[in-house]
Amino acid sequence: GYHKVVKENRTLYNMVQDLKGNIRVYCRIRPAFRNDTKNVVDFIGEDGSLVVLDPSKPSKDGKKLFQFNRVFGPTATQEEVFADTQPLIRSVMDGYNVCIFAYGQTGSGKTHTMCGPSGASRKEMGINYLALSDLFDLSNSRKGVIKYELYVQMVEIYNEQVRDLLTGDPGNTNKLEIHSCASESGLSLPDATMHSVKSTTDVLNLMKSGQVNRVVSSTALNHQSSRSHSILTVHIHGKDASGGTIRSCLHLVDLAGSERVDKSEVTGEGLKEAQYINKSLSCLGDVITALSQKNSYIPYRNSKLTLLLQNSLGGNAKTLMFAHVSPEGDSFGETVSTLKFAQRASSVELGAARMNKESREIMDLKEQIESLKRQLDEKE
Ligand code: ADP
Ligand code: MG
Repeated sequence: GYHKVVKENRTLYNMVQDLKGNIRVYCRIRPAFRNDTKNVVDFIGEDGSLVVLDPSKPSKDGKKLFQFNRVFGPTATQEEVFADTQPLIRSVMDGYNVCIFAYGQTGSGKTHTMCGPSGASRKEMGINYLALSDLFDLSNSRKGVIKYELYVQMVEIYNEQVRDLLTGDPGNTNKLEIHSCASESGLSLPDATMHSVKSTTDVLNLMKSGQVNRVVSSTALNHQSSRSHSILTVHIHGKDASGGTIRSCLHLVDLAGSERVDKSEVTGEGLKEAQYINKSLSCLGDVITALSQKNSYIPYRNSKLTLLLQNSLGGNAKTLMFAHVSPEGDSFGETVSTLKFAQRASSVELGAARMNKESREIMDLKEQIESLKRQLDEKE
């Protein structure tokens, strides 16, 4: 009797948690910069549907339909994009690990979404800044209930090596070891510089020096920043009056360009680089597939990127992928390959139609939990 009800209750609770912890996918299409090629965007639906048209087959055959949680068109503002991301970001303050990553070919708008254009005004700032600014607001509004402290780390991964971007010494591009989450500190990068941040000014200063270090390291190592992944991690420490604690983190990731590199044309260092980029991006794809299929084995250890993001890609984590595409006709091949990757990420649980089902399922499950609780009460 009693134990069975408790067990059922527990199972239902876990199911509710599972349903909450899926990978969401937003697609963002940047404005066209040239009008000498046909625009490939055919239709953008309010429900997250997107139809692209192959410029070489301008008939029905050339149309491809994709379904995401949302699609932002070329006129979407930074504020609009942030507004739809805010609830997810805020959940980090309740103890969820959150990971947001920007995927897409070089020039499709990843850095624009995460950081904003270079020399951005307050209005043009990207998710990195807006997220931190919002977390400070939230922290202030909860001041009487929970005391929060925020810390920031910033690293880049290039050729399967992790480098600290906040050393304070731009010449020092120390390679860092990733520790398993079971290690003593609980941090995956205990040796990366960790800065306490108390205001948006602190954040702006750190982002600036991270950016400078990124340029310095790319010059020293002779690579373009489009070839490395850059990761801003916010660690949240919260404490309530009764001594309860919250420990969570938010990863904000600007991935390397996803464009296929023609291996026949690159040799030596360039080839190694291309293989490494492809390796970590394809590992990310493998991890996402394994998670969405609820496999018991998830191949996190196959790349530095997935190893570092391990705690934020499964379990109770919430993951959001921004798939960026360029609308110009000559990018059509890369655009479709990005959209397919993104579709794979959202394949099992998500998509607009399933989202409705998801929330209905959660509601049903909550109702069942309530009814089980009533049964329990009656027995007592
Ligand atoms: P990526 O980081 O994917 O290589 P960027 O973010 O650097 O691409 O974008 C390439 C160029 O396009 C930049 O000049 C950027 O400011 C501009 N851009 C990208 N997305 C948008 C957008 N949504 N609105 C206006 N300009 C954009
Ligand atoms: Mg970029």
